[in-house]
Amino acid sequence: MSSLINTSRPPVFCPGCSHERITHALDKALEKMGLAGNQVVLVSDIGCSGLFDTFFNTHAFHGLHGRALTYATGLKMARPDLTVIVTMGDGGLGIGGAHVLSTCRRNIDLTLLVLNNFNYGMTGGQCSSTTPQDAWWAPDFSTAWKSRWTSARSPLPPVHPM
Ligand code: SF4
Repeated sequence: MSSLINTSRPPVFCPGCSHERITHALDKALEKMGLAGNQVVLVSDIGCSGLFDTFFNTHAFHGLHGRALTYATGLKMARPDLTVIVTMGDGGLGIGGAHVLSTCRRNIDLTLLVLNNFNYGMTGGQCSSTTPQDAWWAPDFSTAWKSRWTSARSPLPPVHPM
């Protein structure tokens, strides 16, 4: 099999962002598995990780923030023959945390990639569920858009997705 990358999609990630590497690593993995585009579904939600469904010539489902695993579960239950891959950021992980637990309990052979950049990067760097307590972050959008970072600390200990 060959690459499933959608080459007509322009690059969108910030220079140096690891999401680009993950895109190519995922493509390599799909290629090694010998999968054709019509055997794979990319399911995503919102944010930078939510762009993944447009980067591949596969089936795709783009849904609400934090809910990607619910769609993926339905897809896998209806079509167990498909390889279902979910990409989710740490924002989606926090918002849809209960869905992570539920999906683990069902154990229905789907793959979840958590692209953890430790903040809500697309909207200006607000604190997410994985932000370390000693991180610098923008406490609200009104300061984030001016790039006025503060030394405010996350009030809660972070979730460790691994
Ligand atoms: S905002 Fe963050 S996660 Fe999104 S593309 Fe830029 S560096 Fe990557």
